[in-house]
Amino acid sequence: MWKSLSSYLRPDKRFKDVSEIDLEILKSEGVKGIILDLDDTLLPSDIKTNKDKIDNWLKKAKKDFSLFVVSNNSRHDYVKKFCEKFDIPFIARATKPRSKFLHKAMLQMKLNKGDIVIIGDRLTTDILAGKLFGIKAFLVAPLTEMPSIFQKIVYKIEAKVLKMIEPIAEVAPTPIKDAVKEELKKVEIKAEN
Ligand SMILES: [Mg+2]
Repeated sequence: MWKSLSSYLRPDKRFKDVSEIDLEILKSEGVKGIILDLDDTLLPSDIKTNKDKIDNWLKKAKKDFSLFVVSNNSRHDYVKKFCEKFDIPFIARATKPRSKFLHKAMLQMKLNKGDIVIIGDRLTTDILAGKLFGIKAFLVAPLTEMPSIFQKIVYKIEAKVLKMIEPIAEVAPTPIKDAVKEELKKVEIKAEN
C-alpha cells in the first residue's frame, strides 16, 4: 500500500526553482503546456525574496509553451493580479490535490495529458494532483526564504515523506487511484494559502 501510495507522491523531477528547468529540454521531451502552481512556485509568500529570475523564466516559457496557473489560493484577485501581469490564464481555489481543475486547464489549453507537466512546490497538493490526473509532475523547492511556522511544519513533513519514498523511486506506479482517494478522505489535507 505504501509503495503504491508513494508512487503518487513521487515527483518525476526536482529542481531548486523553475528557473533551473531547461525549456529546450522540456520542449524536446514533447511538452507543450505547463500547469503552474502560484504560491512559492512563481510568487514567494514573503515580499523580501527576490524573484527576478523566476519572472524572466516565465517570460521565456510563455514564448514556447501554453501556460496555465492552477492555484489553491482562495484570494481570486491576488491570483488574477499576478496572472494578468504575465497574461497567463488561471484558476484560483483549485483545491489540489483534486485534479478537477487540472482537467479544466488542459481542455482550455487544447492539449492532451502527454503534452503537459505540472510544476509546484508541494508534494501533497501539486505533485499528488498531477499524479492522480496522470501527468508529469515536477517539484521545486519553495521560493520563500521566510516561511511561516505553518509552512515550516508542512515542508518538514513533506521533506520527510520525500526522503522515505526516494529509495523506492524506481517502483512503477500501480493503478490504485480509488485506494489513494480513500486514503485522502481519511486525511484532511488543508488547501495551501
Ligand atoms: Mg505552492
